[in-house]
Amino acid sequence: MVATHIEGSSRRRVGRCVIGEVAMGMQPGWRWCARCSSLAYSGFGDGICVHDSAHDFGGSGEYFVSMVDVPEGSQPGWRWCNRCQCLCYSGFGDGDWCAAGGPHNFEGSGPYSVPLGAIPPSSQDGWRWCCTCLCLVYGESGGTCPSGGAHDFSRSGAYSVATAMPPPELRPSITVDRNSGMLRVDGEGFTPNARVNIRYYNDHKNLDLPTTANEIGRIAHNTGYRRAEGSCTVFARDETTGRTAIGSAGTWVPDNFPYDPVPIDQGTAFGEPDPRYE
Ligand SMILES: [Zn+2]
Ligand SMILES: [Zn+2]
Ligand SMILES: [Zn+2]
Repeated sequence: MVATHIEGSSRRRVGRCVIGEVAMGMQPGWRWCARCSSLAYSGFGDGICVHDSAHDFGGSGEYFVSMVDVPEGSQPGWRWCNRCQCLCYSGFGDGDWCAAGGPHNFEGSGPYSVPLGAIPPSSQDGWRWCCTCLCLVYGESGGTCPSGGAHDFSRSGAYSVATAMPPPELRPSITVDRNSGMLRVDGEGFTPNARVNIRYYNDHKNLDLPTTANEIGRIAHNTGYRRAEGSCTVFARDETTGRTAIGSAGTWVPDNFPYDPVPIDQGTAFGEPDPRYE
């Protein structure tokens, strides 16, 4: 059992290694062909287009297609044809209309997925599936179907294709220390140059100290401190993504943390509950 388990996990790791060269499971190197309007992989040359010509990638920017990972809102079942190099939907078989003649050949293809319905950030919409040649085709540019006529988009949903690699997902983290008379929050993984709210929570009260992440998404915030009532939790919320890192200030709070109880003759400035966080 142990041997089987090790073999299984090492095989999986090898699989991830190959994929691991591309961030977030997105494969670069896809291009739009001006002749057939299909999305084709350019990493092995120009491939085979209609009328025994090569694809024409001259007018295309780079496109990125999800491999292995199936992001939310994406349709799995897409494959790369090792003959025409196009991205094809494999759910209805190999088809009859590879530009290289006969059916497509999906041997050697990774499992691809394509956003359907939703348009993710940095993606181009207007892509359609041709139910004749099974290829993913940019609908507005028409193009010649390998079957000889126009592509048939009558059975297609609305697809889109990524035009940029998505940024790595930010996972903020913080450490809290006392240093040279200051309570210090250091953090990373925040949205660069964006607002971060540092919230100290102790004894049912909050103190919010907003700060700004630097150009590489780090924060460094200092404040004076005093003893807490029990322990103090620190939340650092990235106001752009809503992701929050949590740390502990031990038994210390910032020196301007609200005291209680509030004497009646001093008003309620420190004792008012904050309705936003109740
Ligand atoms: Zn082509
Ligand atoms: Zn093909
Ligand atoms: Zn077609």
